[in-house]
Amino acid sequence: MINEKIEKLVTNSEIKYNEPLKNYSYTKTGGSSDILIFIKSICDLANIIKFAKEEHIQLTILGNGSNVLISDKGIRGITVITSKLNKIEILDDYIVSCEAGVTLHELTQFLINNSLSNLEFACGIPGSVGGAIYMNAGAYGGEVKDVVIKVETIDKDGNIKLYSNDDMHFSYRHSIIQENSDIITKVYFQLKPENKQTIIDKVLELNKLRAEKQPLEYPSCGSVFKRPEGYFAGKLIQDAGCQGLIVGGAQVSTKHAGFMVNINNATCDDYKKLIKLVQQNVFEKFNVELEREVKIIGE
Ligand SMILES: Cc1cc2nc3c(=O)[nH]c(=O)nc-3n(C[C@H](O)[C@H](O)[C@H](O)COP(=O)(O)OP(=O)(O)OC[C@H]3O[C@@H](n4cnc5c(N)ncnc54)[C@H](O)[C@@H]3O)c2cc1C
Repeated sequence: MINEKIEKLVTNSEIKYNEPLKNYSYTKTGGSSDILIFIKSICDLANIIKFAKEEHIQLTILGNGSNVLISDKGIRGITVITSKLNKIEILDDYIVSCEAGVTLHELTQFLINNSLSNLEFACGIPGSVGGAIYMNAGAYGGEVKDVVIKVETIDKDGNIKLYSNDDMHFSYRHSIIQENSDIITKVYFQLKPENKQTIIDKVLELNKLRAEKQPLEYPSCGSVFKRPEGYFAGKLIQDAGCQGLIVGGAQVSTKHAGFMVNINNATCDDYKKLIKLVQQNVFEKFNVELEREVKIIGE
């Protein structure tokens, strides 16, 4: 019954039932989603949001799955995945509007093709634009907040909202969207013209640095913890003797202690236990509380 109603609400978005979410998470962990919708238009999304509210159905949003640990029991209700919201447009004055499901890799390629600069720092972050805004993702001295002009969202009642950069209350790995249940649909970035080869050289240089330092050969969710004020999480974890620690199939990376890699069919529970163990060890040794950056979602 619910399924039939949902199918009538969307025009061209694809729906899958009891779909394993391992395939959509960078750690390759997680159970199934009751209803997974590959949302294709902002209009379909607004309809689904209103319907979920009216029917009291839980609604979860997934971008590129690179900063989440999905529960082994999966996600109840509706999960919306943004990967098909993928339009990019160049407006006046080098402003680029970009739908939330575009990945930062795709956006980088688009900007190279159009000789537009300012976002090179983000080229190797494996997230979607929506996830990057939600997290205020950053690398190599840049954060997405530095390049954002405005952000379009849909709130829990299905209304479209527009936030200025100031309205977003960006701070380190934080935006206001973490405190309300808005869904980011579109982002406006301020770029500047640049020589194409200069952009390519920068991107190649940063990707090389990343590949040297990070265990990209294994599934992971990037840095598990936020950087504690005055410290580096990876260094604290190393000095607490936790590098290489294994729980089930999850391991504190031997290449970069801030990462936890899936070396052998890890479960979300393996990750959760390993996270707790590392937090305890670091606290006992250095009296520093490591705050999780990665989001745990699902039942
Ligand atoms: C190998 C690796 C390297 C990484 N390096 C970096 C790095 O250098 N810097 C950095 O900052 N991060 C890094 N990350 C983490 C991650 O890529 C970023 O946090 C990214 O911004 C997450 O985007 P996503 O689309 O994958 O979000 P997801 O993992 O899909 O979701 C993350 C959170 O955002 C929410 N969300 C996603 N899309 C939307 C939307 N449209 N509207 C509202 N909420 C939404 C989700 O509900 C969830 O709570 C790395 C991860 C990996 C695996």
